[in-house]
Order: sequence, then C-alpha cells, then structure tokens
Amino acid sequence: MHLSRFPRLHLAHLPTPLEPMPRISDELGGPNIWIKRDDCTGLSSGGNKTRKLEFLMADAVAQGADTVITQGATQSNHARQTCAAAAKLDFECHILLEDRTGYHDEAYACNGNVLLDQLHGATISTRPADSDMNAEMEQLAQRLRDDGKTPYIIPGGGSNEIGALGYVNAALELIHQANERSLRIDHLLHATGSTGTQAGLVLGMEAMNSGIPVYGVSVRAPKQQQEEKVYGLVQRTAEYMGYSPDLVAREKVVANSDYVGEGYGLPTDAMIEAVKMLARYEGILLDPVYAGKGFSGLIDLIRKGHFKKGENVVFLHTGGSVSLFAYPKIFGLPEYS
Ligand SMILES: *Cc1c(COP(=O)(O)O)cnc(C)c1O
Repeated sequence: MHLSRFPRLHLAHLPTPLEPMPRISDELGGPNIWIKRDDCTGLSSGGNKTRKLEFLMADAVAQGADTVITQGATQSNHARQTCAAAAKLDFECHILLEDRTGYHDEAYACNGNVLLDQLHGATISTRPADSDMNAEMEQLAQRLRDDGKTPYIIPGGGSNEIGALGYVNAALELIHQANERSLRIDHLLHATGSTGTQAGLVLGMEAMNSGIPVYGVSVRAPKQQQEEKVYGLVQRTAEYMGYSPDLVAREKVVANSDYVGEGYGLPTDAMIEAVKMLARYEGILLDPVYAGKGFSGLIDLIRKGHFKKGENVVFLHTGGSVSLFAYPKIFGLPEYS
C-alpha cells in the first residue's frame, strides 16, 4: 500500500502516541486498555479531522481552490479543524453550523469550538436543524463563484474517499507502532459519526491483513444505518485506491448504537461517568459528544465481559475536548464565583 500516490499536505503531528492506561485498566478489571492519542494531532487543539484534512486540503490545492466550505453541528470539531487548516494554508473559510441539539445557551452557542472557529477567522453562518446541509453548501459555493472565488466543498466530517485516506494511513501507523513494541492488538474501538474514521480504519486493517477488528460506537445513527454508511464509504475508498470495492467483507464493519442516548450531542449519564473517569484516573480529557460516548461504550462492554482479561484493547481518542467548555454545567461540579 503506497499512500504517497495521493496528494497530501502534512498538517498533523504524527505519529500520535500509543499509550497504556494502567490505572483505568485496573479500575475496570478487564482487558489492558491502551489509548491512541489522535486528540494530539496538533492543529488547533487536535482531533481526528486533521488526518482527513491532510488529503482533502491537498486536493483543494491541486484543484486551484482559494476558499473552503464545510458544515457540521454548532460544536463541530471538524469545522474547527477545517478553519485552522484553512488559516494555515491561506484559504478563505466558510462554515455552516446546523442547530442539531437545540441548545442556545451562551456556552454552547459561543464557547468551545465556536470560539476557536472565530479566532481562526472563519465566516460562520447557522442553519436550523434538519436543513439539507449539502444543498446549503452548494448554494453558498455558487454565491462565492459569482463573486469570483474558487470554492472547494469539504463534506461534513471530511468523510469521503479522499478524507478516509487519512484513516487508512492511521491504520498503517497503528500497526507499525504495535509491531515495534510487540504489542498484539486484539480490538480497536472508537466513536463513529460521519463514517470516514471507521471506513479508513477498517479498509487499512483489512488491506494489511492485520486481524485487528474495528468496533464503532455510534454517536447518532442506529446500528444498521451506521454500518451501511460506513461500508459504502469502505467500498468507495477501496475503489479510489485501486482495490476491488469488495476487498472488505460487509461483516467486518461493526457498529453499535447503544450509547447514543436521546440523540446527537445530548449528554448521557454514562458519558459523564466516562469523561470523569478518564480525567481522574489518567489525566486525559474526553469530550461530551464523541469520545465520551465512545468510551462509555467501552466501559459498558468491559463490564458485560465482552473482552477477555489479558486482551489488549486500543481506544482511539478522536479528540473534541474543547467542546467540554460548551457543556460546563452537565458534570455537576461546584461553581465558583
Ligand atoms: C468527527 C468526530 C468523530 C467521528 O469521526 P467520523 O469520521 O465522523 O465518524 C469522533 N470523535 C470526534 C471528537 C469527532 O470530532
């Protein structure tokens, strides 16, 4: 596999660390839990979208674009990382933020990722819940073209066959790290949303015949729908890379929607427990929307005996901790005045 055939700009701090988490492993009394620190990719407080943006922004440059457009929820980590990449590469950046949660308090609407979007100099506009965000991006692109700009549209979450290459590459990186230290990885688990992360990982792990199963904890869509969406992107990415679209069998895509709670971006008790546990046992910050729910799934699966003692489970930390500042009141902590 030779990813250098595809245009790429180096924006991320790679490789990200792979670290054991002995205290939390002891506390949960199950497998050995490791963490792959994709929250430490470097650009504007880090996160998984930076790996995708290395390939997407390179494609934007190759196409002669001078402006990028993307979309996400109000507290989108993807939008924030796109704004930062655009700033670094001297692109104009327009982001459309969908009111997916119905939260309008000041912290949610203005702090966390939104504060950083603004610091990076992006133009932000908001849309109501359930807007057709792809159509909205197309309309905006047309307006910008009329103004003489050359816009490049990055899909929500950076999840298409170009962005997914970032996670094909992450699979190679993780296999290499494990090989270097003779670590046998039995399971890889992470939060899955717009699907590019899981699609890239599954494709990379299968193409390399790693034998490492990937488990996605959905933060939004029901299990079946999420798996189908991920699988569709696995097939498109495989084809884009020159493989048969059927390189990966459908049953290799496994997701679970048991930890979504009431909906995308809405807190659950299990997420709050997971965020507090990692903060207090390992000094690591998860986020309320993705990694917190993902890790809450890992905790529950361990408690249910899903993994054997002595197995090595890697949790991919996909970032997002700046959105903690958008949800300051949910953790039941004392308020100081
Ligand atoms: C976007 C995101 C995810 C989900 O990754 P997808 O590629 O969209 O499935 C997980 N965690 C965080 C923090 C994210 O921002």
